[in-house]
Amino acid sequence: MYRRNIKHILIPLAVGLALVIAYNLFFKPVLPPQTMPLTETVELVAPPPAPSRSRSPESEAKSVRGLDQSVVPPTPHENLLESIRDEIEKQNLSLAETKLHELPATVLSHAKSRPFVAALWNNLGLQQERLNGTQVSVKAFKRAADLDNSNPVIFMNLAHAYWAQRDHALNAAFLTKLMKLAPEEPFPHLAMADLLQDQDELEEAAKHLRHASDRVQQDPALRSYLAAVTTKIDRTQSVESRMTAKSSAHFIVKFDGEEDQNTWMTALEILEDAYREIGQKFGHFPSKSIVVVLHAKDSFQGATGSPAWADGLYDPSLGRIQIPTQGATMDRKWLSNVLRHEYVHALLHDRLGISGGTLPTWLNEGLAMQLAGDVWPELDQAMQGEITVIPLTYLEGPWSALPASAATVAYLEANSATHYLIERWGMARVNELLSALQAKSSIAVALQNKLFVSYEQFHRQWLESFEQNRS
Ligand SMILES: [Zn+2]
Repeated sequence: MYRRNIKHILIPLAVGLALVIAYNLFFKPVLPPQTMPLTETVELVAPPPAPSRSRSPESEAKSVRGLDQSVVPPTPHENLLESIRDEIEKQNLSLAETKLHELPATVLSHAKSRPFVAALWNNLGLQQERLNGTQVSVKAFKRAADLDNSNPVIFMNLAHAYWAQRDHALNAAFLTKLMKLAPEEPFPHLAMADLLQDQDELEEAAKHLRHASDRVQQDPALRSYLAAVTTKIDRTQSVESRMTAKSSAHFIVKFDGEEDQNTWMTALEILEDAYREIGQKFGHFPSKSIVVVLHAKDSFQGATGSPAWADGLYDPSLGRIQIPTQGATMDRKWLSNVLRHEYVHALLHDRLGISGGTLPTWLNEGLAMQLAGDVWPELDQAMQGEITVIPLTYLEGPWSALPASAATVAYLEANSATHYLIERWGMARVNELLSALQAKSSIAVALQNKLFVSYEQFHRQWLESFEQNRS
């Protein structure tokens, strides 16, 4: 028997990067498992702490992000610049921004006023960020950097905004420049490590993590983050250094051992199909290659730190899908189910950015099931059985807090509510909803603003259709 006769559903829990915590919940199914449910471990990893710009909490208090704008350089434009500075100080930000945009070219080409204008843009960005986040401030910092491309404070602020926005402009060239401008800062190395890790350059990534560690002094959150990531990368690198890797257009598939070329090729086929098909359905394609590691069944647990029974796992902190395989007896259908489902989790992570936004678990799982087209007969069966409906609001966080009998129902509802969402509003609108969640709106606010329906209304209407489908 190539499939384990799993008599439980395991709901995974969060492994925080900063605080590495894992919880497991193990329980008996409501129904006898005639077909295997997808038993997965979703590792929700806390985003890395906001990059620190300061050497210590004390210097942070002095706000090293702001630039001195008290002395307006004596130029013919002195009064104009002074008036903009005053608007920024009075928090008249849109007026200040308009005036900055309208500055005549002569001001910008003037050697003395140009860096001062850059400082004004920088300080405007800081105020905007406080009110409206990095989505807005990134533009001001970009302006500032264009005007003064040797100011480490401006470039650190810009890097911070890029990082928060998961902007691809935070690339190797930008970070190399930043390292030169701000050689004492750990953050550029941290971001570079992240980038290299995405490109599967683990050895180089570890090198930059060590550079970052060397530069971190009194930042406990960053230190523990670095320690956790370094450990994870070292473990991954040591496990994967023995592996052979094969790339397709959009995936790097690593395989434990050489005896099973077939599984390897099959996995690549399944993944490339998923890339095309799910990408079209969802309207999003991953921004980079996704690493998929096929572990020999007996090494899966040790290599991923996940429980032996887990069928699959997407680890956002490593950007990897990890799957235990079962050699020549591999069931293509099972592999396809698991890979497609985990691929959607990877795709959603890519779509929502490094901080993960505020995607509720029911929507994360529901989209994985809907977009992957999960075949999960146990749910169809459960649909006809007796169900105590769990309000979706209870299914937003980690599912481990649920009572044992609720797991099947949780997946069932997630699938059904997401199906309803897509069918009624269409994928384009669901994508708008995701953008709102990415910008850290709550699901209630996102539903109201993007679909013009309150969470309560949505819940009631979905439940009606849910009950109808059951009768
Ligand atoms: Zn899942």
